[in-house]
Amino acid sequence: MKTDLIGSIATALVVGGGIGGMATAISLAERGVSVELIDIDPNWRVYGAGITITGPTLRAYKQLGMLDAIKAEGAITNKTRVFRYDGTHLLDLDEPSIEEGLPATGGIMRPTLHRIMQTRVRELDISVRLGLSVSALDIGEGSTGVTFSDGSTGNYDLVVGADSVFSSIRDLAFPHMGPAVPTGQGCWRISIRKPPSLEMGEFFLGHASPCGITACAPDKVYMWMLTPHVEREAHMTEQELFDTLKGLLADFGGNAGWIRDNMVPSDWINYRPLAAVLQPKDWFNQRVVLLGDAVHATTPHLASGAGMAVESGIVLAEELARTDNVMDALLAYQVRRYDRCRDVIETSVSVGQLQLEHGDPKVHAELLGAALHRLNAPF
Ligand SMILES: Cc1cc2nc3c(=O)[nH]c(=O)nc-3n(C[C@H](O)[C@H](O)[C@H](O)COP(=O)(O)OP(=O)(O)OC[C@H]3O[C@@H](n4cnc5c(N)ncnc54)[C@H](O)[C@@H]3O)c2cc1C
Repeated sequence: MKTDLIGSIATALVVGGGIGGMATAISLAERGVSVELIDIDPNWRVYGAGITITGPTLRAYKQLGMLDAIKAEGAITNKTRVFRYDGTHLLDLDEPSIEEGLPATGGIMRPTLHRIMQTRVRELDISVRLGLSVSALDIGEGSTGVTFSDGSTGNYDLVVGADSVFSSIRDLAFPHMGPAVPTGQGCWRISIRKPPSLEMGEFFLGHASPCGITACAPDKVYMWMLTPHVEREAHMTEQELFDTLKGLLADFGGNAGWIRDNMVPSDWINYRPLAAVLQPKDWFNQRVVLLGDAVHATTPHLASGAGMAVESGIVLAEELARTDNVMDALLAYQVRRYDRCRDVIETSVSVGQLQLEHGDPKVHAELLGAALHRLNAPF
């Protein structure tokens, strides 16, 4: 339990029980706020992909007390190896570790990470209501009235919109913001058993469709591949996804080639067009505030979207604990998050652009390495 009790707010509603929403709910509840969390998904599930967790993301999870669980149930490595797409080793990515005992990078299956966070939410007695969204907000200076999709109502000192890229809270309370902007790329992901020779994260660059592999458990990895977006691929059957991804891997060597040769139709495969946006300020309207993909949606090139969402949840609670003036706290939250999230989004979109233009893999690796160094700065 954190000791810096929040005096400015007693009750908070967190809309969206994903990575950012849970991090926020946990950070507020640990400081004594009575938190309600709602999610539109009646089963509160997450899809079956793996996720890369960089050093800065691990640092944020350490602050939430979850580093040991992630280490135990995920996979931790201290390097990412960069290959030409045909399997020729080029270099090792410059990924400094942030502090003693904190791994430089790692991965975990999303459902496992979700379970670890959900367990902490339950331990803190956070009230969780599922299959629910917000249909109306009555935004006042001192509190916000909320009408839920089941007709029930509530009144809260703070409402946090963590309902992702199509945020309903953003639509209701932030008319100066807009939807995320497509970047022209799509992301393929496959969850599959670990290639026997894989020892650390691997990137395969120098191809119009670069890919990479992240270990997520002792026996599991996920592979991502970024391709120029093709609308039809967003609507494929499972068999079509399987056949298309296998075909896209035709030129690849090393462990990417191993995955092509060993993938089976029952492996989890997903294709998703990419979009990004850093929403214009202000990120709060009276006592309604946004975080995560709702306000700083990025592409996966730096594998930092989830990390940014967790950091935002922690920073929001820290700033609310620092002062009794809620408006000052929300402004301080925005100031601390804006430039850091902008860096992640701008760098990720630039790397994607370079890939679409068939850029030099070394330039690509340098851009990633430099950004990862910058992200090691305290948040
Ligand atoms: C292809 C791809 C790969 C990625 N890979 C990585 C990676 O390797 N590493 C990394 O750090 N990041 C990665 N990201 C980014 C990361 O997944 C997101 O940045 C992160 O999940 C954002 O957290 P969030 O809480 O804002 O949203 P989410 O985690 O998406 O959670 C939003 C929650 O809100 C709920 N919700 C939605 N609408 C409503 C509503 N109207 N009312 C109530 N609840 C609602 C949803 O059910 C969900 O539970 C990737 C993203 C993509 C697209």
